[in-house]
Amino acid sequence: MFIDTHSHLDFPEFKADIEQVIKRAQNAGVGKIINVACDLKTCETASGLSRKYDFIYSTLGLHPYESRFVTPELMNNFFEQVEADAKGGAAKDGEAASGRKIVAIGECGLDYFKAKIPYEEQIRAFQLQLELAQRAGLPVIIHSRNSEADVLEILKEFSDVRFVFHCYGGNIENAGKILDAGGMISFTGVITYPKAENIRDTAKYVPLDRIMSETDCPYLAPQKYRGKRNEPAYVVEVVKEISRVKNLPLEKTESALQKNAEEFFGI
Ligand SMILES: [Zn+2]
Repeated sequence: MFIDTHSHLDFPEFKADIEQVIKRAQNAGVGKIINVACDLKTCETASGLSRKYDFIYSTLGLHPYESRFVTPELMNNFFEQVEADAKGGAAKDGEAASGRKIVAIGECGLDYFKAKIPYEEQIRAFQLQLELAQRAGLPVIIHSRNSEADVLEILKEFSDVRFVFHCYGGNIENAGKILDAGGMISFTGVITYPKAENIRDTAKYVPLDRIMSETDCPYLAPQKYRGKRNEPAYVVEVVKEISRVKNLPLEKTESALQKNAEEFFGI
């Protein structure tokens, strides 16, 4: 089975046809999807689909752009939600909750690429979310742009927290540091772009048991669908490309990446 470990199915782009999007993913062999929260709104809505579909899971977390909203009170609220979820108590009437559905904290991290938010504010928000992950015993989905050194430095204080660098676009040297720190590396459809030779080189370098696949949809559609809205079904293109650069049979790559995601998220 293919797994899309990072989608944003609550974004307005999917409002009109979410049922068909989910059906197409299933028809393409995508057996599990993580619906990732990134702001206050999606923290409220991300679990909706995960309550409706047993193969969809959700997260709680705020993107670095949303750092100002990250407070100790909000983290306590998230912790309570995770606890209720673990007991299966978060299901409301009419929802078919089946087991634990909040499977990670994130996406959170540091974004120095455009850096409109002061670094200190981003770091504070990231640390609070790492504390939450530690307390809740959940792994973290990390968004990092031009900030790998600081992210890895901060992660040292949370050595028991498992983490994945999502939508990895960095170089081999930084990938090596992430691997040394025990992290996972996740690739999107960007790996299929003609100019993304550096990302393909990185995927070749990262051991198969440390890689995950994702779409980051609705953004970053793979080359085959470039310019269109991305969706979980297209994660197949990402896994195909990883298998091509690693010169492995698709089935072997597919099952290895499935195992990685299942173990990482406990799904
Ligand atoms: Zn994302």
